[in-house]
Amino acid sequence: MAEQLAVGVDLGGTNIVTALVTKDGRIAEMISRRTEPHRGAELVITEMAAVVNELINSVSLDDIVGLGVGTPGPLRQREGLIHHSANLPGWKNVPIQKWLQEKTGLPVQFENDANAAAYAEFWVGAGKGVSGLVTLTLGTGVGAGVIIDGEILRGHFENAAEIGHTIVELDGRPCSCGQKGCFEQYAAPGNIAKHAAEEIRNGAKSSLGGILKAQGGFDSEAVAEAAQAGDALANNVWNDACRYIALGCVNIQHTINPEMLVLAGGMSKSGGFLLDRVRQHFASQTWKIFDDAPQLVLSELGSNAGVIGAAGLAWKAYQSGAVRLNIAAS
Ligand SMILES: [Zn+2]
Repeated sequence: MAEQLAVGVDLGGTNIVTALVTKDGRIAEMISRRTEPHRGAELVITEMAAVVNELINSVSLDDIVGLGVGTPGPLRQREGLIHHSANLPGWKNVPIQKWLQEKTGLPVQFENDANAAAYAEFWVGAGKGVSGLVTLTLGTGVGAGVIIDGEILRGHFENAAEIGHTIVELDGRPCSCGQKGCFEQYAAPGNIAKHAAEEIRNGAKSSLGGILKAQGGFDSEAVAEAAQAGDALANNVWNDACRYIALGCVNIQHTINPEMLVLAGGMSKSGGFLLDRVRQHFASQTWKIFDDAPQLVLSELGSNAGVIGAAGLAWKAYQSGAVRLNIAAS
């Protein structure tokens, strides 16, 4: 028998990434395609299945252990549905598990994309060998995934780990979710850049002023670069964001008590400049009565975490025997 493989799919708002992944989490082959979710769920899932079938075409079906999909949520996993998603406009109660099972003939696991990425870091990434971890994906918003003793924390309403919407300021900045003062309003890269731009428009002097004038905006990497080059405003904005991220980490420490906290997403590209600041603020904010601080580290898998984690969940189901149960139940 040839090497066994799982198929992973990372469904995003603009791209679908599909990969064959080995038992030890290595990507054997990967295809990335643009997607347009607004054309409708059934069409996109049919295309997704076609890519999966293309990828497994050269492999014997007996060597494929299953298919795992990471998708934006919220989900209704007990019912096999994508409930709805801001990143997938018009998708409502989409029976993704059933459709993909029918179109590929494979047993299908599906998971919230932030949870899939967390599982990847736990399985073969920064957290390989730890008992559990929490990832904070500092991207468009702040996504998070919680792994406890190898299992994903889903919660009764299947919507756990929405750490980006924990409130860190009473009556703070309004959030797209309808609350005020959400963590992601202070810690997500897009909001950091927006905040810096607002200050410049309000008259603050900064080397970013020129970019703002020429391009109408900039991203958090530009803020980090300016801060490292000695720009006072950029440094203040970056430092404030790191203080809030550290605050989030302290709250996670006391709520979940994980062995490790992984910083991932676009902002983690700033590497040590992010990690050192967050570690410094974490050390000053956390309690001193007891040393149960998690290791604070950067993601090791970067943007591949989603697709690797999705495949990892297919592997997990296969190894636990859940796949056979799944097939029997469908
Ligand atoms: Zn919110």
